Amino acid sequence: MNFAEIWQASLGELELTLSKANFTTWFKNTFIANVDNGRAIICVPNTFTKAWLEKKYHESVIKALRNATNNEVREATYRVEVKNTTVLSSLAPTHTEVMQDKTDGLNFHDAGMSEEAAGDSALNPRYTFEGFVVGKTNELAHAAAMAVATQPGKTYNPLFIYGGSGLGKTHLLHAVGNHLAQKFQDIKILYVTCERFTNDFIQAVRGGRGKEFKDFYRNVDVLMVDDIQFIGGKESTQEEFFHTFNALHQANKQLVLTSDRAPKDIQALENRLQTRMEWGMMTDISAPDFETRVAILNAKLHEKSINLDSDVQRYIAGTVQSNVRELEGALNKILAYHQFKNITPTLDSVQSLLQSYIPSMPKRNITPRRLLEIVTAYFDLTLDELLSKNREQRLAFPRQIAMYLLRSEAKCSFPAIGEHVGGRDHTTAMHACSKISELLKADEQLKQDLSLIREKLYACKTAE
Ligand code: ADP
Ligand code: MG
Repeated sequence: MNFAEIWQASLGELELTLSKANFTTWFKNTFIANVDNGRAIICVPNTFTKAWLEKKYHESVIKALRNATNNEVREATYRVEVKNTTVLSSLAPTHTEVMQDKTDGLNFHDAGMSEEAAGDSALNPRYTFEGFVVGKTNELAHAAAMAVATQPGKTYNPLFIYGGSGLGKTHLLHAVGNHLAQKFQDIKILYVTCERFTNDFIQAVRGGRGKEFKDFYRNVDVLMVDDIQFIGGKESTQEEFFHTFNALHQANKQLVLTSDRAPKDIQALENRLQTRMEWGMMTDISAPDFETRVAILNAKLHEKSINLDSDVQRYIAGTVQSNVRELEGALNKILAYHQFKNITPTLDSVQSLLQSYIPSMPKRNITPRRLLEIVTAYFDLTLDELLSKNREQRLAFPRQIAMYLLRSEAKCSFPAIGEHVGGRDHTTAMHACSKISELLKADEQLKQDLSLIREKLYACKTAE
């Protein structure tokens, strides 16, 4: 087998084990440059991909290589190399310019700027990478934004970030802009909301300033459009955006787009635009888990130099689950109230303030049946296996977790738990609950498992 064949066979294997999106994202434009002493040198298009392959997919890659070559290739290293080297345009226009989102005309504003101008500018200096807390559900979006902010036009183009409201999409866009403005002195960054782009375009057409509009939007190094989903159904704006996109993309200028949904779900979006939005990197953000919510509260408190009892923090993070904007809102409400009353927040005082955030479905409405189904699905088991007498570790541990959750989430009694889990004795249920409680004190993996299962549990409830 030659290198190309080896890699082809390995990719075939990898494709089976990864989701289509992941496979395309990480293995597009990769190839083997050499094999030396059982070690393959795999070329990847950029440092970002290199880091991810090293960090996340190394084992899968090795396994695929070994299988494909009957163990002849046993190791791999990664190198950044592009087959047909593309020449990237230099990022050297004359000024750091940022367009205001709120101005009427098509004016550039100097980003090098006074405090006052900064406050008025489209780039919010408060939204930085430093202030962005990374967790499981935004890790990829954050890493991709970082890559784009470090090497605009060279990693993923466009970068398309999507997810529900209040999860940090706008924050990440501004962070990219702020980072770039700081790093490259002479870079033209344009941040606009989709609405702004639309209005500018319509006004330009009406005022016979079409050329001005084109010159303006196509003469930037980085174009960031926030909430691009609003372009759905707007035909002429889509047409214009399509040409703007092409012009910038061809010149290796960076595009970053955010949306509340994936391109394929944007209504009345032209096919050719959808395709383009999917060209580069698509990454979604979902609601943060409990630990990340605690970390976000911590960061926000730190920003404000305010201390808050950690029990209180955990209570807030446990109660306000839907998104980060609400979490921040709840925190601000609590701080304002206590400042006004001149008292220190305690669990009691905070509990009554957060009444409205407590999920309307009380936890006791979780049925044991649904809970068991979710636990089995989570651990890839069948219900029969979970309820069986088999005491293999791979079954016994999920079973104990199920018993623990039946107690904590479904509020079952110990005898009832025993009953639900294949007719076991109540002492078995008691033992399982205390064992899991004990493990939870130190086992991070277990904590994460439980928080994911809980999320699933409560997501199912609201979807009903
Ligand atoms: P979106 O654009 O997705 O609706 P935003 O970017 O406006 O959400 O975020 C809402 C608020 O939550 C902002 O104040 C933002 O700073 C904050 N926020 C969101 N995600 C994070 C995070 N991971 N770390 C810190 N703050 C966050
Ligand atoms: Mg937003």
